[in-house]
Amino acid sequence: ARVDNPYAGAKAYVNPEWSAKAAAEPGGSAISNQPTGVWLDRIAAINGAAGKMGLRAHLDKALEQGAGVIQVVVYNLPGRDCSALASNGELGATEIDKYRTQFIDPIASIMGDAKYANLRIVTVVEIDSLPNLITNVSGRPTAVPACDTMKANGNYVNGIAYALNKLGAIPNVYNYIDVGHHGWLGWDDNFGPTADLLAQTARASGSMANVAGFISNTANYGALKEPYFTINDSVNGTSVRQSKWVDWNRYVDELSYAQAFRQRLVQAGFDSGVGMLIDTSRNGWGGANRPGGPGATTNVDTYVNGGRIDRRIHLGNWCNQSGAGLGERPKVAPESGIDAYVWMKPPGESDGSSKEIPNEEGKGFDRMCDPTYTGNPRNNHNMSGALPDAPLSGHWFSAQFQELLRNAYPAL
Ligand code: BGC
Repeated sequence: ARVDNPYAGAKAYVNPEWSAKAAAEPGGSAISNQPTGVWLDRIAAINGAAGKMGLRAHLDKALEQGAGVIQVVVYNLPGRDCSALASNGELGATEIDKYRTQFIDPIASIMGDAKYANLRIVTVVEIDSLPNLITNVSGRPTAVPACDTMKANGNYVNGIAYALNKLGAIPNVYNYIDVGHHGWLGWDDNFGPTADLLAQTARASGSMANVAGFISNTANYGALKEPYFTINDSVNGTSVRQSKWVDWNRYVDELSYAQAFRQRLVQAGFDSGVGMLIDTSRNGWGGANRPGGPGATTNVDTYVNGGRIDRRIHLGNWCNQSGAGLGERPKVAPESGIDAYVWMKPPGESDGSSKEIPNEEGKGFDRMCDPTYTGNPRNNHNMSGALPDAPLSGHWFSAQFQELLRNAYPAL
């Protein structure tokens, strides 16, 4: 039987490949023993792509480490990441059969091996997918044709339902699905409809019990807690919801968002015991530019902009954000409703290349990763805020790693 929180009382697996890269960086040994996500981001990753460890090698290593829990990101949907180009994948929009038989089935057969039965396997199933079917489709100013395609052909819902079904049949696997982050789904038009779509997808998998929980902020930069303003504040009678930064969102940070989303998911039909994960790998926002107190009460914008610790140019910016730092170290049951703070995105791995780089991974060039880009409707036409000279998504980005160390909060 599954436990309520798979992280509780369990030592988490340290990925030796990430650990070695982190340790090779000046100052990196301060964090190189932290657990991070193992990403299965293409079919070849199952057996080990480009000389890297495959799934079995990681699971065997986890047993060797005496780990009680390992975190695996399952990330290879057909038409992957329809609203952004940097993490487009190897499977075309219609390749659902290949996804089932060459990706999910082999993963399930390895994870189901009896020798791993005492290892809790946390699977983060297909981030960057279902929320796109709510927010980035026709009828919205942020629409992207590729997301219309994935909504119409049903392959995100069908693929995830299949993965939840196969992986959910393994008693020591804990499926977590993606709830985006507050800067994506925190608006009323997005929040409830996404929760309902997640419930519909879980039902399509055969059982709501195939889902153990949800993850927010995966590979994003949203602050865990904004200490110097709340959603209920107002300045001279104007609500912070009317500030440019908040722009009518209901949430100002990831903790309040994740806790509220949990309630809404229970309302949508999920078990009242479901738990949330928050990716705190890169949402620390420490360093010299971190405000030390609330902003001036001249008007609502000076108040919010002066006090916010999230220093992004716009909340919709997501690629290799300049000024970011490591966030809370991985931590079990830190707050009510939260199973763990996790480092699902391995710090130091790029979100996307700043220029076009030919490759065989299906990765595109998304101008949100180009520091000279002036934006699109999804970041309200602001500068991208991305660091320059970044490699392809998933590749090691030393300059970013160094900045994450410098701006860590809590400080290292
Ligand atoms: C990339 C993956 C990579 C992951 C973790 C994603 O943005 O598309 O290839 O494994 O990040 O760094």
